[in-house]
Amino acid sequence: MDIHEAKTAISKLIDDEADALWALSLAIHADPELSLEEHRAAERLCAYLEENGFALTRGVANLPTAFRADRPAADDQKPSVSFLSEYDALPGLGHACAHNVIGVASAAAGVALRKALGSEYGGVTVFGTPGEEGGGGKVLMAQAGMFRDVGAAMMIHPSDKTRADVDFLALSELRFHFKGRTAHASAAPDLGVNALDAVIATFNAVSLLRQQLPGGDRVHGVITEGGEAPNIIPDKASAWFFVRSKTMEGLDALAPRVIACAEGAALATGTELETEKNPITYAPMRVNPPLASLFLKNLNLLGVHEPDSPPPLRMGSSDVGNVSQQTPTIHPQIQMVPSGVSAHTPEFAEASGGAEGRRVMLTGAKALAMTGADFLLDEGARRAVQAEFARRGE
Ligand SMILES: [Zn+2]
Ligand SMILES: [Zn+2]
Repeated sequence: MDIHEAKTAISKLIDDEADALWALSLAIHADPELSLEEHRAAERLCAYLEENGFALTRGVANLPTAFRADRPAADDQKPSVSFLSEYDALPGLGHACAHNVIGVASAAAGVALRKALGSEYGGVTVFGTPGEEGGGGKVLMAQAGMFRDVGAAMMIHPSDKTRADVDFLALSELRFHFKGRTAHASAAPDLGVNALDAVIATFNAVSLLRQQLPGGDRVHGVITEGGEAPNIIPDKASAWFFVRSKTMEGLDALAPRVIACAEGAALATGTELETEKNPITYAPMRVNPPLASLFLKNLNLLGVHEPDSPPPLRMGSSDVGNVSQQTPTIHPQIQMVPSGVSAHTPEFAEASGGAEGRRVMLTGAKALAMTGADFLLDEGARRAVQAEFARRGE
């Protein structure tokens, strides 16, 4: 099959369906559901995929709002690609991370790719990955090994800039709870054991530690409990930290050093310390430049370009990192809002339901499906992506 004809067909299929796809995205936008509670959004996407011949498995990885939709190849020796659909919203802000755009772009890419190529060249899967906003849905799906049997995984994220080669840090969450003893802060301070002092000593120790950290390591925290009134020595105080690093090894080395800061603070203040570590750890992104560059070329064909001098990469963390450890993965950004407008704001929520959201959804769906066509039809390109994945592995 001619790859250019396949791409033209994909573009036309998505244009023909544009109004219906945007109606589906708007229905999700108008009915926001929080992380891991996205029952109606998941069902809307499942229904669309089922109508288009995908075999649905709902509630995968013990997550009621996760799903897997498959259209396998005629021959199971053929390669496969997958698209990652997100659809959770934010408390108080609705779809301020544009997951209504992401969810439909990925589902539409799966449908269009399959319609354009049929079953001869490879399999197509759409994963419904819930709870991106703190639920770590992809972490739990990766723990169940769900991404190991697909040839690649792709999604787009609307943003204030266009950038194909997005990277993420590994992330671990720590909570420290200190317990002391109350006393009158003026009349009997010597009888108190000050839990807030332990929190402050932890922050000071972390601040000193920061100077000794390797580049890319990040530690940031907030005080979640710090006492009731100035005239009562606080008997309980807590802090919540995010610890990030470029690699899992870096994270494994950093987390104990941050815990040691809290342990030292407990010793110094005579408080008792309870440490809580979130069992959900975000893996770093195993970037795949060959796959990102295929995507960028397709984006360029569609008239969307990266800026000439891209702004510095600002790195957070995402549960897509865990997917990228199991299969070649990309998470490119497409500009939807003016530069400097952040996600998780009312402006971003408005754009997600407006003309710019529609444009990014359609462009994203086309570029994803076209990159899927490159991966399934061009053996040389596929081998380069696979070699890069192997090279960056543990
Ligand atoms: Zn978000
Ligand atoms: Zn998001």
